[in-house]
Amino acid sequence: MIKKFWMPVWVIVLTGLFTAASAQADRWQQKVIYEMDVTMDVVKNQYKGTQKLHYTNNSPDTLERVFYHLFNNAFQPNSMMDVRSRTIADPDRRVGERIKNLGPDEIGSLEITTLKMNGKPVRFEHVETILEVDLLDPILPGSTVIFDMDFEGQAPLQVRRSGRDNAEGIRYSMAQWYPKMAAYDRRGWHANPYIGREFYGNFGDFDVKITIDKTYILGGTGYLQNANEIGYGYEDKGVKVKPVSGATHTWHFIAPNVHDFVWAADPKYTHEKVQMENGPMVHFLYVKSEKTEENWSKLKGYTTAAIQYMSEHSGKYPYDQYSVIQGGDGGMEYPMATLITGNRNLRSLVGVTVHELIHSWYYGVLGFNESSEPWLDEGFTTWGTSVVMDAVFEKDPGFVQEGNYRSYFRLAKSGNEEPLTTHGDHYNLNSAYGAATYTKGAVFIEQMTYLIGKENFDKAMLRLWNEWKFKHPTGIDVVRVMEKESGLELDWFYDYFIGSTKTIDYGVKAVEADGNNTKITLERIGLMPMPLDVVVTYQDGSQEMVYMPLVIQRGSKPEEAGKPKRILTQRWPWTDYSTEVSIGRPISDIKSVEIDPSMRLADINRENNKQEVSVDIPKK
Ligand SMILES: [Zn+2]
Repeated sequence: MIKKFWMPVWVIVLTGLFTAASAQADRWQQKVIYEMDVTMDVVKNQYKGTQKLHYTNNSPDTLERVFYHLFNNAFQPNSMMDVRSRTIADPDRRVGERIKNLGPDEIGSLEITTLKMNGKPVRFEHVETILEVDLLDPILPGSTVIFDMDFEGQAPLQVRRSGRDNAEGIRYSMAQWYPKMAAYDRRGWHANPYIGREFYGNFGDFDVKITIDKTYILGGTGYLQNANEIGYGYEDKGVKVKPVSGATHTWHFIAPNVHDFVWAADPKYTHEKVQMENGPMVHFLYVKSEKTEENWSKLKGYTTAAIQYMSEHSGKYPYDQYSVIQGGDGGMEYPMATLITGNRNLRSLVGVTVHELIHSWYYGVLGFNESSEPWLDEGFTTWGTSVVMDAVFEKDPGFVQEGNYRSYFRLAKSGNEEPLTTHGDHYNLNSAYGAATYTKGAVFIEQMTYLIGKENFDKAMLRLWNEWKFKHPTGIDVVRVMEKESGLELDWFYDYFIGSTKTIDYGVKAVEADGNNTKITLERIGLMPMPLDVVVTYQDGSQEMVYMPLVIQRGSKPEEAGKPKRILTQRWPWTDYSTEVSIGRPISDIKSVEIDPSMRLADINRENNKQEVSVDIPKK
């Protein structure tokens, strides 16, 4: 059945490339091809569907069991999500007690009624948000099997992310709505129950038919195949759409090379689109009102500018379509689309759109695991949001990442910090999850520019894209790319900053005359070692840099454009808590000594980073 999938030439080329040449020797990834046909009852908010899944086991393992996600079942009283949401010390206000109070026609559900593999029924058990399947015949390495199922679902009254009738009155935000095969990778199965945090899935192709009341307008992942029958602004220019005689439309979407499929539907949507030159068609679906009309009109230019910026700096957006859709409960990323709440002021509307859009590069195409490595996806995205908002919305006169650093510093001093290796669902506090994954994650990325230099970093970002798109790199893979581009050893940086909560604090302890020279004493107070850029400012206003790489990084970053000229490189063994540097000029020449005026070093106490030299300069 693969042949019936239409794919643009570039997808075929890309797919060929990444399955053949570029995969790392020890890497493989499972492949999924979904064909689904569902019918939505817009009165009962229930849907029925069939799913054919072509599943290719590219692993070296024989699989005796498989697992499907049934996310909707989280929205039932006493589910793991409900219990967790009520018992965590700082509940998410969007959830709180709401799941406990859902009535029978408000809960979410997703049930499998029949399931066969290669035509033979298999044993399966619903364990809340996971379907556990025992296979009669194992799936051998290198083989493809076909699962056929019938399923029934009910869209929950919206509590978190997906569901019906959200706070802004959007009828359907259909995320996490279908039975989805859990990811299987080098760490085995990822059959995580749905507790609240985010997602991970294997790449594949989706062919989805949705039959729904004909007054509904849909948006989502995937290219609409029958646009000229459906209309609603999807039709080609000049096409006159024939009215249908029945009560429903069947929308037919195809999405190549994605790891999830979202859709949203509302009869009130206005649908507008912008074709980018050398870029995707960008769709906007929102309910026009006093609150939305002006800002959503302005949003179009900012969205295309952001796509353009990201394509130039982080890799070209690889799909022909992106959709910004009013729906959901804030902002959530999906392949080729985002659901965002729409009644926002302009800054907030642009900010959330840019943020969710940037996820397309990381969660979407690189395929970061948002579930076990949420910092990687939110960190890159939060970092990128600051960069792109500065470029397309409003220039920040100061340090662009300052807000992210401040949030991380608060977390580091709060006593609630947990290592970024924590699985998204397992942080003790929601607030600690947020500050850690979003802002400490962003600080990790920005510090990488400090460690290897901005020019190496920029090259490494494109290398990351070219070597790893559609292949699920991990944090360690990202660091390896940075190592290869810079020639430095950086595993210690990952181990300390991601694997521990140790913090950075360096200080300028003393600046003293030493004959005709000046002696600077630097100290390491924090437990995490880092290289130092120490800037000496002279009385005449000129500046020079003392660079102090760690011995364990086995090399130096190149001199960076726009930074003071380097006069001395002195390696620092991390085992030393203090060290001295000698400057070959008298102390009377020196005005101040400062550690990293670029602010990129995440030094949690900047008070001790600078010493002004006050000496009596003899008057003539
Ligand atoms: Zn995000």
